[in-house]
Amino acid sequence: MTAAIQVEGLVKHYGQIHALRGLNLTVQEGEIFGLLGANGAGKTTLIKSLIGLTRPDQGRALVLGLDPQRHKNAVRRQIGYMPQSPVLYEDLSARENLVFWGKAHAIPDLKARIEETLAFIQLEGRADDPVYGFSGGMKQRLSLACALLHHPRMLFLDEPTTGVDPKLREAFWNTFRRMAQEGTTILLSTHQMDEALYCDRLAVMRDGQVLTSDTPKSLMARGSTVVKVWRGGEAHTARFRNYAAALPQLLRQHHLDPQIERIEVEHDNLEAVVLELINARFETPQPEPDFSPEVTHVG
Ligand code: ATP
Repeated sequence: MTAAIQVEGLVKHYGQIHALRGLNLTVQEGEIFGLLGANGAGKTTLIKSLIGLTRPDQGRALVLGLDPQRHKNAVRRQIGYMPQSPVLYEDLSARENLVFWGKAHAIPDLKARIEETLAFIQLEGRADDPVYGFSGGMKQRLSLACALLHHPRMLFLDEPTTGVDPKLREAFWNTFRRMAQEGTTILLSTHQMDEALYCDRLAVMRDGQVLTSDTPKSLMARGSTVVKVWRGGEAHTARFRNYAAALPQLLRQHHLDPQIERIEVEHDNLEAVVLELINARFETPQPEPDFSPEVTHVG
């Protein structure tokens, strides 16, 4: 596999604020890669450093093999960027915004490409209306269209579906997946855990560093599982890191009691795992609990 993005020891200060503190990251070509982390973790600063909008103080970043500071134009020709808040010319129509971007990228056969893009974002009916009259979702659609008009090799999307309704979000994700299958690399930041699950890999960021990067499935596997065994009207609750290995012992402990009425199993979701990571609870390995379950009385 080839790396589309390689970041080593990236540092960025804004005065006293340490936005990036020696960040390392590798994103492979064709991946959909998600950045997770609390507000202020450094996601936007990282994206801006990778597209040449922010100059890092230290460290090295390569995008498609190029330094985004030294080869700004070459990088920009090959990437699309959708900022957190749409940057559109509000007095221009949707079509005029696309013409502007298309000309900036010298797209061949621009007229046809714009018609195709307007159809894809379902704005054909409003193509000639000024953007200031558009809803938030319409502006998001147009912003995405501007980012992908020139068939970029890489897409940088900063919270692309914030404020987007579920139907439109599904349409966005169908596009992202199709583009990734065709070889486009996508780096996005998100606070939406449901869409983080669609990514091939995720990086969890805290205080300008990547705490860990892994597939959503492997991250989820770091969570724990609560098993509640209901017996005689009481819930016997135990929490396990490795539930598959621990469950047989738990059931043996209950001697598969005929009085067991119900067993509830609740896995940590991605949000819980990410929160635990951010709160550093995984930094020291947690011992597996013993099998003296906590008893919850009902009622
Ligand atoms: P969010 O999830 O809220 O979008 P983020 O993870 O994208 O947050 P950044 O926007 O990268 O975080 O901000 C990282 C830190 O750098 C924050 O403390 C922020 O206040 C600071 N910062 C970012 N841009 C600037 C700037 N232009 N001037 C001063 N401080 C900045």
